[in-house]
Amino acid sequence: MKVLFLDRDGVINKFPGNGKYVTKLNKFHFVPGSLDALRILTNEGYSIFVISNQAGVAKGVYSSKKLEHINRNMLRDIRSMGGRIKRTFYCMHFSHAGCECRKPQIGSIRKALVSMNQTIRSAQKAFFVGDTESDILAGHNAGCATIFVLSGREDRRHMRGWKIKPDFIARDLLGATDIINERNLARSRRRKRRALTVKSTRKRAAKKKTSK
Ligand SMILES: [Mg+2]
Ligand SMILES: [Zn+2]
Repeated sequence: MKVLFLDRDGVINKFPGNGKYVTKLNKFHFVPGSLDALRILTNEGYSIFVISNQAGVAKGVYSSKKLEHINRNMLRDIRSMGGRIKRTFYCMHFSHAGCECRKPQIGSIRKALVSMNQTIRSAQKAFFVGDTESDILAGHNAGCATIFVLSGREDRRHMRGWKIKPDFIARDLLGATDIINERNLARSRRRKRRALTVKSTRKRAAKKKTSK
């Protein structure tokens, strides 16, 4: 099972600026290369989920309808480039609401896994890609491998103050894609090597038996 969790703003689309939100369609701009990354990851067989905090809805900066509209357009553009997002999870609550879905809480990660008939334990085989400390924390809290991308809100300087550091750092989602693919390749090579070892041990054992 290949599962990937992505933050939205600063990862898929350009970060709108501190304290700002993507309130309308013409403020949504893809980060260069992110559409290619989503196509590559989709072709690699990843189930991709978007997990995004959008407290601007609770604050009344934009409506949930507007968010839905922006989301629909994003999904359509991704699809037209050959990528596929399995599902999007938006937390539209205040940061002080104490909900389970606002990162660094892992409620939405759990829900996404449940939708695939998996428990939170399988998050250990998944990646979380984000541009802020709360993304890395959410991924870490769930047990995912975390990738911090430098295409969004926070940078290496911010990172120095974090208690939990990311497992990997990439320039953007396309860079993160390279890391994910490399890790996968290494894992399948290890698996193949193990399978070969088992086979040759069996052969040797069989030989021993026949020579008796
Ligand atoms: Mg972000
Ligand atoms: Zn929430």
